[in-house]
Amino acid sequence: MIVPRRWAAAATAAILVSTVLSHPGSGAAAPSPAPPPRVALADGETALVRVQLRDQAQLDQLVARGADLANRPRSADGRILADLVLTDIQLAELTAQGATALQVVQRPGDGERHFAESLRAAQARTAAGLRAPAAGQRTANAAAVDTLQFLQAYWWTSGGQTFVQTQVATTATDDPDVEITVSWRTADGTTGSFPLFRFEDSGEYQYHYAQPVPVPSRPVQVTATSSLGGVSRPVTPALWPNAAPPPLPEGYQKDFIDAYLTPTDIQARIKRLARQYRDLVDVIDLPNKTQGYRRTAAAYLGDPAAAAVVVESVRFGDQGMNGVQVRTVDPGRANRPLTATYRDRVLTVSLATDGAGKVTSSTDQVAAVINARFANRFQAFVEQGSAGLPMPVVPPVRLDDGLQGTEVPAKPWTVQALRIGVHRDGSRIGVLAYSQEHAREWATPLVTLEFAERMLANSRTDPATRELLEQTEIFVIPVVNPDGANYSFHDFDFQRKNMVNHCTGTSRDPANRDSWGVDLNRNYTVGSHFDGYVGASGNCLSGSYAGTGELSEAESRNVVALARKHSNIRFAMNVHSYGGYFMWPPGAYKADGRVTLPRPSIDESKLFLDSARRIVGAIAQERGTVTWPSQTGPVADVLYSAAGNSADELYYELGIFAWDFEVGNDRWNPATGQWEGVGFQPPFDEAHGEAQEYAGGLVEMVRVARDYAAAQEG
Ligand SMILES: [Zn+2]
Repeated sequence: MIVPRRWAAAATAAILVSTVLSHPGSGAAAPSPAPPPRVALADGETALVRVQLRDQAQLDQLVARGADLANRPRSADGRILADLVLTDIQLAELTAQGATALQVVQRPGDGERHFAESLRAAQARTAAGLRAPAAGQRTANAAAVDTLQFLQAYWWTSGGQTFVQTQVATTATDDPDVEITVSWRTADGTTGSFPLFRFEDSGEYQYHYAQPVPVPSRPVQVTATSSLGGVSRPVTPALWPNAAPPPLPEGYQKDFIDAYLTPTDIQARIKRLARQYRDLVDVIDLPNKTQGYRRTAAAYLGDPAAAAVVVESVRFGDQGMNGVQVRTVDPGRANRPLTATYRDRVLTVSLATDGAGKVTSSTDQVAAVINARFANRFQAFVEQGSAGLPMPVVPPVRLDDGLQGTEVPAKPWTVQALRIGVHRDGSRIGVLAYSQEHAREWATPLVTLEFAERMLANSRTDPATRELLEQTEIFVIPVVNPDGANYSFHDFDFQRKNMVNHCTGTSRDPANRDSWGVDLNRNYTVGSHFDGYVGASGNCLSGSYAGTGELSEAESRNVVALARKHSNIRFAMNVHSYGGYFMWPPGAYKADGRVTLPRPSIDESKLFLDSARRIVGAIAQERGTVTWPSQTGPVADVLYSAAGNSADELYYELGIFAWDFEVGNDRWNPATGQWEGVGFQPPFDEAHGEAQEYAGGLVEMVRVARDYAAAQEG
């Protein structure tokens, strides 16, 4: 029943472009990168692949086809790397056009396997009574010497390796050929250098930059030189993030996540926490039920490759429409009209005949008679390429919604929030953490649930945690998009959106089933697609489809409803994956002139950055993961424009300090000298690590809120 995906349809929904930066150059400690292993996909396979694109034009073409940008595409040493969800055919097409596949980040079924492994490991630990384990310069032109200025120069140590990262601006902003090199020196006199790469966004020069570069020890000085002859002042790199949370007290309890969690598992976890910590938890049922994990039932009447009509139920498949049959018949007599009858769950279309008894109905006529006679029960349309063709006689075919998750309740879902605190009356400053707006980001509810349970469990044993729950109120929505999450777990790993199908006409072809839905994080009202901002689509098949209007979706209305109702909420974190980002508003700009939403004031910008450093420091406490300074900042600057996202909604509409995490930082591979992407559904050990470290970040956000409230009072 599934016809081969057409490139256009697949490209609009399934392609994800994300920032991937190539190894920028050689510090003294950097091993020379090994040649990338050859990667290939099996016939018919769809996977998440790190691809080196031929050039900017190839990227632009992908984006124009509706690519879904999860990260900022960038160039480094002349290469543009992107993470793409694509089929073997699409990969072959890209390769034929000059692209090179570097890494299969995630194959279909990886998620399912990692999920199953996580369950087996959890069971084994339970059985054993154990808890989860913690886990070169051109000649200078004297006439055109440019001025160079360091925008950023930071160093840090992670996993025993020291890194340096810099951003440098040249005054020769319009010269695309300027080459900038940064030289570094350590305390013992070791030196080295690496190139920076020009970064433009929306056609405008921003700065020169490189990924973090390994160095043998702390760099005490960096200097930038340009091919135009410019030389910067020497700068001493600063320690990043240079903020550490209080050390964990003796006996601090953590590690409450030992497997991936489906929406049903999350529901059970919420219930348990509410029962176990009655004095500290209320469960809030958010006001807007979702559509549910359900879909209309459909079938091809005829061969989609030859001539066919798509027949679809008006109601959902689970509402008695799965299994309904549809057929066309030859009446066997001359001069019969085209008719349609529905009896005993069989829709029969009797085709018209001419004077010789030959069948004369066309595909269009068949679709029209179904729509005219049974508009309350069925909708029919002619398959693309089948218009005007003679309608064949088709034996009965069954309508089906195609959903694989048999144990998922097929009914509207009530999204829930945990409300945590000693005083749950709005009298204390509120903090909101919400996750899995995007269905495939399986690690994200693990982060928020680990955070919630840490606060609860330690309130019994750790006076400092108890004190925090005295001083603040915490709201947690672990899964904003349960329907899409169910679809991601049971049907299509790479599902990003919800399950509401707003498509009309031929885009309702069942072949597009993995491309339907609304990108919830593009469905909000501030700086939206509908206001003319960049980074969302009006195409219902696009991965970043904004919906039929602002707040058209129950899921996004739920987030707004919670934040509006509880006006004590002043801080919020929207948890996504992957890539390792820490971001805040503005999150969108208009294309012409790259005009962003208003910038926060100097004071607020300082609060955003100072708080971010504290939270980045807390994340690093767990296993040394350091979110890069280049990936810490306003969304529109460090990632890309994301029209109608929820953090902008909360900040500009409600005055909430609203951040976004992209958990799942790239991991440094010393053997290859490359930063490697972790994907949406990594092996559980990695997801577990992400949950632990980012839960620590959320705890620090609560401290930030407490300190903010104290300063306001003081
Ligand atoms: Zn996301």
